[in-house]
Amino acid sequence: MNTKQSPIKISATDANQRFSRLLAESEQGHEVVITRRGKPVARLQSIHQPKSETHDIGSPIDSGIPDFEIRRELIAYCRKMNDVGLNQGTSGNASARVSGGLLITPSGLDYERTEPVDIVKVDMEGKVLRGHRNPSSEWHFHCRVMAAKPKAGALLHTHSINATTLACLGRDIPPFHYMVAVGGGRDIRCAPYATFGTEKLADAVLEALEGRIACLMANHGMIVLGRDIDDAFKRAVEIETLAAQYLKALSIGKPQLLTVGEMNVVLEKFKSYSAWADPKR
Ligand code: 13P
Ligand code: ZN
Repeated sequence: MNTKQSPIKISATDANQRFSRLLAESEQGHEVVITRRGKPVARLQSIHQPKSETHDIGSPIDSGIPDFEIRRELIAYCRKMNDVGLNQGTSGNASARVSGGLLITPSGLDYERTEPVDIVKVDMEGKVLRGHRNPSSEWHFHCRVMAAKPKAGALLHTHSINATTLACLGRDIPPFHYMVAVGGGRDIRCAPYATFGTEKLADAVLEALEGRIACLMANHGMIVLGRDIDDAFKRAVEIETLAAQYLKALSIGKPQLLTVGEMNVVLEKFKSYSAWADPKR
């Protein structure tokens, strides 16, 4: 709640008539001060209910925060990634490009408890520009990747089960299915292992993302870029599905791979196919 805005002042004579409206204002978090001859004589306290498990993401009263809608959207997609089983707990993180840098999820904070004000603004070197929390421990790769892919609007990182299982085997996802093209190329590479939150991991990820918009990270999870967070999320769903299909195919045989020529045809078609058009590397 924004407590910094100036209080609503009203004279005691008018207050009686407008009581129910004033009460509503106070419930929305406004401070209401009742005055007599210009001097404060009473104050209406806001009567906020304790937040439930599934509370809204920020109240409209927070909307003074810059890029409020983008902050809300990031949180909504992080909650959704956990709800649909693309991630669990406080693992994973997300960022979105805004003027002057990135908005990034805070480190280690439950997404259900995250509010727009908890999202951190960093510059492209990772310096905190605005925020009261620590940015995601993975700010190195968020900043480096988003700097290297200027057309990408958002980056999503998840520890989804199937993609992470493949990553624990250190395996790329080869062109066993044409939808591998949602990662922007003929395969989805797995970056070699490096400790989470390190520059070394950012280096490895950048290399795996050469000419791509998605990769796995060995013994860790997946990274997906998108035009915006919705696009990144949709691609993450597809990649997790591909990982599940690939693991299933591997369990009973050797999946038949598409050729370079066949994948080039798909990549060309995707350029004008609405759902996956223009991945904006
Ligand atoms: P953060 O909570 O710091 O973003 O870390 C989660 C994670 O997935 C690290 O790789
Ligand atoms: Zn992670």
